[in-house]
Amino acid sequence: MFKNIIAPVQAWLLAQGRCVGCGTPLTKGKREKRKDGTEKVTCKCGRIFIFNPKTKKYRRALFEEV
Ligand SMILES: [Zn+2]
Repeated sequence: MFKNIIAPVQAWLLAQGRCVGCGTPLTKGKREKRKDGTEKVTCKCGRIFIFNPKTKKYRRALFEEV
C-alpha cells in the first residue's frame, strides 16, 4: 500500500529531473557518458539514474548498470 503512494511521487520527481530520494536536481549530479549514448548520473545521496539525451528523460538505473 505504501508503495502505491510513493511511486507516483517518484515518477513526478523523475519527470522534473530530480532525484527520487532527496529531490536534488540531477543536473547537479556526477555525469558519465555510457557506450549507448545515455548518461549515468550519480546523485550526491548515492542514487544512480540513467539520462537519455534523445528523450531528455531520467530513469532509475538497473542493478546491472550500477
Ligand atoms: Zn539524491
